[in-house]
Amino acid sequence: MRGDWHLHTCFSADSDAKVEDMLDAAVRLGMKEVCITDHYDMYFPDESFVFDPDEYFRVLSDYKEAYKDRLQVRIGVELGLDCEHTDEINAFAAEWPFEYVIGSVHKLFDKDPYERADYDCDDDTFYREYFKRCADCIRVCSNFDVFGHLDYVVRYGYTKAADYSYERYRTEIDDILKALIERNIPLEVNTAGMKSVGFAHPHPDILKRYIALGGRRYNMGSDAHVPEHVGYGFEEAEKTLNKLVFLEPIR
Ligand SMILES: [Zn+2]
Ligand SMILES: [Zn+2]
Repeated sequence: MRGDWHLHTCFSADSDAKVEDMLDAAVRLGMKEVCITDHYDMYFPDESFVFDPDEYFRVLSDYKEAYKDRLQVRIGVELGLDCEHTDEINAFAAEWPFEYVIGSVHKLFDKDPYERADYDCDDDTFYREYFKRCADCIRVCSNFDVFGHLDYVVRYGYTKAADYSYERYRTEIDDILKALIERNIPLEVNTAGMKSVGFAHPHPDILKRYIALGGRRYNMGSDAHVPEHVGYGFEEAEKTLNKLVFLEPIR
């Protein structure tokens, strides 16, 4: 199975997974390489979504060495993008020797979309504003290698994907795709969405549009927070991607 480039461990506030359990799961699936990408969200409503970078690199470097004959372990991060603190976010990504940085938007109006009840708006506004925020962040943040889970906000809507389509949010989503293509930033195909909304993020119609606009590059990750989800849905996502013949994996 191809490598998983989006894995969380107990360095993330929302995971209790031991690093070795995540790596052992990847070995069992026959993966040759993986990337640990724990959360680092500055200025987040929940301040626990950061880790101590010294400790992170020290511990993960030991695992990298210990597994080197079975699995290539990369040390990455899932970095929260934020239009208001770009200098600090960009500096953090540049300061530490991450092998791979997923840039993800985890914050909307200074709140976490995961906490849907904190927003006093309908799902249409919730989704639309999130997409606008993504395009804004992509244009001002640098130092990330791939753009994470483009339409994950749909997981948290009251209606989830029932009324969601690329067409409905065409203007906002095209703006995101154009920003990525202009800056040559690949899209992430994030299979976690298959568990909650039945498709990997972003929706296949968005991948088709990405290709039509000239986008080609992507990478895949499960966004696993527990060992059982390492490589989740990769085979099915692969089938979808194989139909999109112009996409080129970056790994
Ligand atoms: Zn994320
Ligand atoms: Zn993640």
